[in-house]
Amino acid sequence: MIGDDWTDPKDELARDRRPSPDSPRRVAVVTGTRAEFGLLKPVMEAVRDRPELGLLVIAAGSHLIQPAETFREVKKHFEVADSVPMQTVGRTGRWADVEALGKGVARFGRSFERLAPEWVVVLGDRIEAFAAASAASVGGIAVCHIHGGDRAEGVADEAMRHAITKLSHLHLAASEQSADRIRRLGERPEHVRIIGSPAIDGLDRVEAMGDDAFAELGSPEIVFLKHPIGRPDEAEEHAASQALEALGSLRTLALHPNHDPGREGILRALLGAGSNVKVVKHLERSQFLALLRRLGTSGGAIVGNSSCGLIEAAALGLPALNIGARQRGREHGSNVVHCASDADAIREGLDAARSLTPPFGHPFGDGVAGVRAAAALSEIDPRDTALLRKHCAY
Ligand code: UDP
Repeated sequence: MIGDDWTDPKDELARDRRPSPDSPRRVAVVTGTRAEFGLLKPVMEAVRDRPELGLLVIAAGSHLIQPAETFREVKKHFEVADSVPMQTVGRTGRWADVEALGKGVARFGRSFERLAPEWVVVLGDRIEAFAAASAASVGGIAVCHIHGGDRAEGVADEAMRHAITKLSHLHLAASEQSADRIRRLGERPEHVRIIGSPAIDGLDRVEAMGDDAFAELGSPEIVFLKHPIGRPDEAEEHAASQALEALGSLRTLALHPNHDPGREGILRALLGAGSNVKVVKHLERSQFLALLRRLGTSGGAIVGNSSCGLIEAAALGLPALNIGARQRGREHGSNVVHCASDADAIREGLDAARSLTPPFGHPFGDGVAGVRAAAALSEIDPRDTALLRKHCAY
C-alpha cells in the first residue's frame, strides 16, 4: 500500500525542471481560439507585469487554421513561445475534432517538455484547453483552470469543461455558482478561488465605436453571431437562415461562426442573406467591444448564441437575444432574453430584448480577474505535493 510519504515520480520530475530557485516562475498560458484569447489577455498581461512570474504564451488549434487571422492578433500583443497546430485545413466535423484533439495532446506534451513551465493555464471548455490540460496533467505539471464549473451545452463543451476541472489543480472560477459546482465535483475548497470573469476586465473603459468605423460596418442595428451546435451543415444552414429572415430588414452585421462541426452550413446561410446583412469574418476584440457599446447606446442588440451575449454584453449595456440550446444553463446578466430557433420565436424574442433598458446586472465580478489570477499563480506553489497529488475531497 502506498503511504503518505510516497512521492509521485512525476512530482519529482516537475521539481527537477525548475531552472533555479530565484528565476521567475514559468507560466505557460494556452490560447486556442478567439473565444478565449480576449479573456486570457488580461491574465497574460497581469502575469507579464509580475517580476516573479515569467510568461510563456502558447498559441494553438483554431488560431492556426489558415488564414490564421486571430493568430496575428495574439502575436500583435504578445511574444509567442510556441505554437501547437491541431486541426487540418479542410477537414471539419466531429471525427476531425477527435483527431485534432489527439494530435494536440501529443504536441502539447512536446511543447511542455521543451518549455518546462511550472504552471499551465487554460480557460474554458474547448478541445485546445482539454488537450493542454491532459498533456500537462499526465506530464506532472500543475494546471490552472479559469472559468471552470460553468454550465453551457455547446457541442461537447459541458463534458470537456468538467473533465478539465478533474485534470486541474487550481480552479479560478468566474462566479459563486461555478465555484460551488467545482467543489461539488470533489475539488478541494482550498484550491478553488473566485476571481470573476476576465471577460469583464477593462469593459468599463470601452468607449462606443466612432462614427466613421461604425459607418464602415454598415451602421448596424443588430450584431449576429451564431455558432453551430454540431448538427449537419444542412440543419445549421436552415436554422441560421430562419434566424436571419426573422431579423427582417434590420441592418445587421453578421460575424463568421467558430470552427465547430456545422460551420459550413452557417457560412452558406450568411452568403445567401439579404442586402441588409453585411458579413465580416472577425473583428479585433477592441473593435468588437466598441461596437457592442455603441449598439447599447442606440437601441441595438446582439443576436445568436455567443457567450459574449451572456457574459460581456450586460457590462456593455447591450440587450442580447440568445437563440436555442448552445448556452443552455449558463449564468447571465439581466440583459438576456432566451428563445427557440423558429422565426416567430426569434421575432418575439427580439422585441422583448430590445425593450430591456440598461444598466444591467451580472454575476461575473468586478473586472479585476486578470490581476487576481496572476496573484494566485504567484502565491500558490505549483510544486507543492498537496496541490499536485489530487484527491477527491469526499
Ligand atoms: N469576439 C471578437 N471578435 C469577434 C467576435 C467575437 O473578439 O468578431 C470575442 C468576444 O469578445 C468574446 C468571444 O470572442 O470574448 C466570444 O467568442 P465566440 O462567440 O467566438 O465563442 P463562444 O465563447 O460563444 O464559444
